[in-house]
Amino acid sequence: MSTDRYQTILLFGPPGVGKGTQGKILHEVPGFFHSSTGDIFRNLDAQSELGKLFFQYSSRGELVPDDVTMRIWHQNVYAQSILQMFKPNADLLVLDGLPRSVNQANVLYRYCNVLAVVHLVCKDKDALFERMRRRALKQNRVDDAKPDVIRRRFEVYEAETKPVLDFYPGESIIEVDAMGSPAEVLMHILDEVVPLQKAHFDLQTSEGAE
Ligand code: ADP
Repeated sequence: MSTDRYQTILLFGPPGVGKGTQGKILHEVPGFFHSSTGDIFRNLDAQSELGKLFFQYSSRGELVPDDVTMRIWHQNVYAQSILQMFKPNADLLVLDGLPRSVNQANVLYRYCNVLAVVHLVCKDKDALFERMRRRALKQNRVDDAKPDVIRRRFEVYEAETKPVLDFYPGESIIEVDAMGSPAEVLMHILDEVVPLQKAHFDLQTSEGAE
């Protein structure tokens, strides 16, 4: 199998829709590797230049500039592959929070073969607001704590991130209702993604299926 580019699925959707929740569950399943740009940024040393840059943007509900985002993400995923945490020959890469702009999608094309875009759909914006508010309390997140910042995050999603859907072929986009329980949403995602995973990896013989 060609390992030129990582075999990838995207978890796509507005802030608070549950991309991180699903990504973390999938990560526990052999053959899936979850990579979240939000988590990568939050794990930076807050006192470092990059950590400060991240805070500057996220605390306003804005996106970190594309060049910085793509560089940090690529360095991170590459390091994970060197450390054998991520095994590109055996693992489907599950991207959460990337790409968030068409420019990022263009750069990502160099590294990733996107097999499917799992678009988590939620028509009830108030429910997303409420989820984010609760998460902010639990996780001490500056980007979700203030209503104005949450509103800005939704605006940025509509203006910069949603157009990413047009970058990918219509047949690769899978819509999943995000309002069910985490288990229900997971079931729908697995229904769609497991056949793709089977088609691209021979799990019986792969090292990833320990
Ligand atoms: P959520 O899970 O609520 O959608 P994330 O944890 O993915 O949010 O992201 C938190 C913040 O990190 C974003 O508001 C943004 O400032 C920054 N960020 C995350 N991913 C990207 C990205 N691909 N491009 C630019 N900024 C990003």
